[in-house]
Order: sequence, then C-alpha cells, then structure tokens
Amino acid sequence: MITVLSGGTGTPKLLQGLKEIVDPSELTIIVNTLENDYFSGVYVSADIDTVLYTMSDMINDELWYGVKDDTFITHERLEEIGCPELLRIGDVDRATKIQKTQLMEKYGLSKACEIQAKNMGIKSRIIPMSNENSDIKIITDMGELEFHDFLIKYQSEPEVIDVKFSQVKPSEGIIDAIKNSDAVIIGPSNPITSISPILSLDGVREALKETYVIAVSPIIGNDSVSGPASKFMKALGIEVSSVGVASLYEDFLDAFVIDIQDEDKKVKVNQIINKVIITNTIMNNLDAKKNLAEIIINSIP
Ligand code: GDP
Repeated sequence: MITVLSGGTGTPKLLQGLKEIVDPSELTIIVNTLENDYFSGVYVSADIDTVLYTMSDMINDELWYGVKDDTFITHERLEEIGCPELLRIGDVDRATKIQKTQLMEKYGLSKACEIQAKNMGIKSRIIPMSNENSDIKIITDMGELEFHDFLIKYQSEPEVIDVKFSQVKPSEGIIDAIKNSDAVIIGPSNPITSISPILSLDGVREALKETYVIAVSPIIGNDSVSGPASKFMKALGIEVSSVGVASLYEDFLDAFVIDIQDEDKKVKVNQIINKVIITNTIMNNLDAKKNLAEIIINSIP
C-alpha cells in the first residue's frame, strides 16, 4: 500500500506515471482542501477534482484544471447575463461540482469523493485531508486577499508578506492510511499551500515519522516549475530551493528527489536528508512521469 500527499498540479503529473506502474487499488491519495470554497453556487474542491480527473483520465492536463475538451456554455451565458464567474468552470466539470455539492451536503466531503471516485471507475482511495473548510488569507502589499482572488483576479502578482490558514481536523482514515502504508510519497506540490496544510493536521507528522517517506522537490534552481510556491516560501523566510523544501520536511523525510539541474545542491540537501536521489523531475511527457514514479517506487526499502 502506498499513500500519496497531493495538491493539484505537480503531484497529479506524478500520479499519471504512478498509476501506470503501480496497481491503482494499492494507492491512497490524501488531497489538499485548503482552497475549497463555494463559487457560483457550487462547492469547488479544485485539487480533489484534479485528482479525480487525473485518475479517471479525464483531466485537462494542459491547465491541470477541469476536464479535457470541456465546453463553457454555462460559463459564457453567465457572463452574458451579467453574472460573471471568477473561476472558468466548464460544463462537464460543473456537473461534477453540482453532484459533489449535493452529495457533500448530505454525506460530508469524504463520502462524496468516495462515491464520485467509484462512479468514475477509480480503484484508488481518494481522501480529502479534512471535511472542514479552511480559512486562508494571503497577506500582500495590496492588503489581505482571498486565495482565489490572489491567484486568479490578481494573477499571483502582488508582493506576498505572509500566508495564513486556519487549523482544521483531519478526515477519518488519513492517519491510519499513512501508518499502514509501505511508503508515503510527497509529490512535487506547493510546500506552503498544498503540503503544509496536510502536515499541519493533528497526528500527521507523527504518523509520517513511523513510515518511509520520500518527497520530490517542486523547486528547481531558485524557482518553482509553475505557480506561486517560490513567492510563498520567500514570504515565510524559507530559502527558495530544494534545500529550503528539504528543511520543511526534515523531521520525517527518509529520501528526497531533487532535479538533475540541482546537482550542486546535493551536499547541502544531504546535510538535512540522508538519502538524496538526483534525476530528471520535469514531467513534461508520460515517459518522464513513469521514470520518476519508477525511481521512487524502487527506492522503497
Ligand atoms: P496547485 O494545487 O495547483 O498549487 O498544485 P500543486 O501544489 O500540486 O503543485 C504546484 C507545484 O508543482 C509548483 O510548486 C511547481 O513548482 C510544481 N511542479 C509542477 N510541475 C512540476 C514538474 O514537472 N516537476 C517538478 N519537480 N515540480 C513541478
């Protein structure tokens, strides 16, 4: 059994490779819920939906958001009638979100995800990190911003001063999943807004200490491959590099995968984590995703 901690872009790329080389029924994926909120009357759990679509081969993997070849009739109509949406939600994607909203209000988020995963033919377990809603604020030079306003309305451009999020309860089953796994994989996801929220849940760090944990750096050189991770790390005073990421996971990490371009950082990373693996971590095609997944699986003692 393998557990993966995931956000909504870097780790799903790795999941595409992992599901080709590991029996999907052996995978449990614990997904970040920090950014979940209601938009246009539906509950949007972007990272969970990305993982659902990735595992069912429906994902728009150019954007890492929504369903491939989706239409936007409702989105465009909403704009025409003076009801523009902040998020560009496709029609098929909206149907998933409407169903999830209804299921969630009846059974809670975990059960809603379980039902949807089953309907999509997914054999892996997909568990939201929490059934509670988080409150996240990005403190910027323009004042305190909602996460999606920062990301979409302001295109991650404001200077970030701090990132604050509330503490929520872990959902049922995640501590046991971690403890009962042969390995936990922390994919190359945003360490501040995707992985830290999972790590901050009661009991998660302690459980990770009892399990073999391997992580992939989302930072190559001194920048993130995509998204605002480097801005958030800088704001929190963390070195923007694989060394900085290693320091965040130091207390439980057994092995750390850094990119071939970061060979010069190996000695410094090694002072923090004993086992350092250097390989290509840029997953721009299925072979690269499978290779990285294979290296990770082969490292499990
Ligand atoms: P979010 O929920 O959309 O923010 O997505 P994640 O947290 O899952 O992933 C964002 C992180 O993935 C960013 O920090 C990127 O640097 C990293 N990332 C994206 N693609 C790749 C890749 O191909 N290789 C590596 N090493 N990191 C990646």
